[in-house]
Amino acid sequence: MKFKYKNVLVYGMSISGEWVSKLLLKLKANVFLYDDDRQKLKCKNIENCYFVQELNDNLISQFDFIVVSPAIEKDNKCLLSAKAQNVKVFSEIEFASQFCKEFVAVTGTNGKTTTVELISAILNKKRKAVACGNIGYPLSRAVLEKKRYIKVIEVSSFMLENIDTFSPHVASILNIEPDHLNRHKTMEEYTKLKYSIFKNVRPHDYIVVNLDENIHPTKKCFILTYSQKCLADVYIRQGYIYLHQNRIIAINELKLKGKHNLNNVMCAICYAYVYRVSPAKIREALLSFKSEPFRIEEIGTVNGIHFINDSKSTNISSTLACVESIKGSIILLLGGSKKGLDYRKLFSKLPKRVKSIIVYGEIADALIEANENCFDIKRTEDLSSAFAQALAKAIKNDNIILSPATASYDQFSSFVERGKLFNKLVSEYEVSAKKE
Ligand code: ADP
Repeated sequence: MKFKYKNVLVYGMSISGEWVSKLLLKLKANVFLYDDDRQKLKCKNIENCYFVQELNDNLISQFDFIVVSPAIEKDNKCLLSAKAQNVKVFSEIEFASQFCKEFVAVTGTNGKTTTVELISAILNKKRKAVACGNIGYPLSRAVLEKKRYIKVIEVSSFMLENIDTFSPHVASILNIEPDHLNRHKTMEEYTKLKYSIFKNVRPHDYIVVNLDENIHPTKKCFILTYSQKCLADVYIRQGYIYLHQNRIIAINELKLKGKHNLNNVMCAICYAYVYRVSPAKIREALLSFKSEPFRIEEIGTVNGIHFINDSKSTNISSTLACVESIKGSIILLLGGSKKGLDYRKLFSKLPKRVKSIIVYGEIADALIEANENCFDIKRTEDLSSAFAQALAKAIKNDNIILSPATASYDQFSSFVERGKLFNKLVSEYEVSAKKE
C-alpha cells in the first residue's frame, strides 16, 4: 500500500532494473526509467512507465526514492545530487527484500554462484527455495514469481553499496581477495562493503564463518563455522565431510572438484543446518549437484590433450583455485580487460606444472611484465590465436585451461560469450583431428 502513487526512478536498465520496475508497477507506484545509454531504454518492453530523457537536479528532487542498478557507481553525479537533496537511493536487493518473508544471502569474491545454487538445491529437499540475485535471476523477479520460496540471494559488492535495512536470516562472506579495485579503489573499502552484509543482523539470525579465512564478524547472533583444517560445526575427517557427529558425504563422491569447492559445499551445509534439512537429504542433494558451466568445466579430450573451461574466473584467486584443482601439466590461457590487480601475486603462486602461459587482450602486456621471466609466456591478440598457440605447444596429457583471471569486456560481452568461443574452438579442433 505504501508505494501507491509514489514517484520512483529506476536508474539503470539492467535485468534487475527491468524486474524492479515490474515489481514497482505491481505496487502501483509511478515508475520512471532512466539509463545513461538511451538505447537500453528503447529496447525495454515495460508498459506504463515514463521514460526519462534527461535527468537534472530539479527532476531528481521530485522522486520519492531511486532504485539504482549495481552498475552505477556511488560517485555518479545524479546519485550525489539525490543524496544532497535527501532523496533516498536503494539497491534493487534492498528494495525487493522488503517483500520477502524468508531470505538468506551469500557474498564473497569467489564461489557465490556455486554456493547459492548448492544452498538452494539442498533446501529444496525440504522446502521450496530459489537461487536469485546476482546470478541473473533478480530478487524482484523471484518476489513476483516465487512468492512462498525461501530466497537464496547471491550478493555482489556492487549491490551492497546501497543497502539500508537488508537483513538476511543467514549470511556469510565466503572469502575476500583483491578484485573490483578499479571501482572500490582500496581493499579496505571493498572489505568494508563485503562486511555490510552483516549490518542488520538480528539476535535470532545466523552468520556462517569459514574458520580458515581471515573473516571475523563481530555481531551478536548465532554463529555456524566450517573448516578444512580444524574442528568446526562442519569439518573434514578422513576424507569425509561431517556436520557435527553426522557423516554427510565422502569428498570423492562429490562431482564438484577442488578444495575451494569443499568450502562452498561446507558453507551450504551450514545453511541447511539452520533449516533443519536432515543429513540424508543433504547427502542426496550433494550427490547429484553439478557446477554451472564455465567453472572448471571439463570440455573433453582430443589427441590426449584435456580441455578445461574456467571462463568464469575473473580474478587471481579463482585462477589459482582452478590450477590447484587440476593435476598434471598445464598450458594456461590468461587475458581480457585491465583490472588494476597486482598480477605478480598470480605468477609467484602458480606451480611449475604450468609449462606455458599464453596471454591475450588488453591486459596482455601487463601480464608479461608481471611474469618477471618466471614462466614460458607468449603474447597473442585474442582468444582464438591464444588457443592456436596453446595447441602448437601441447603434447599428450597436457591440460589446456582457459582461466583468464580477469574480466572479458575488452573482447566479449561477458564470460559466457568468452566461454562459448573456447568450447567452439575445442569442437573445431576435434573435427579437424578426426579428419587427420
Ligand atoms: P562467483 O559467483 O563469486 O563469481 P562462481 O561460483 O561463479 O563464483 O565461481 C567463479 C570462479 O571462482 C570460478 O572460476 C570458480 O572455479 C572459482 N571459485 C568458486 N568457488 C571458489 C572459492 N571458494 N574460492 C576460490 N575460487 C572459487
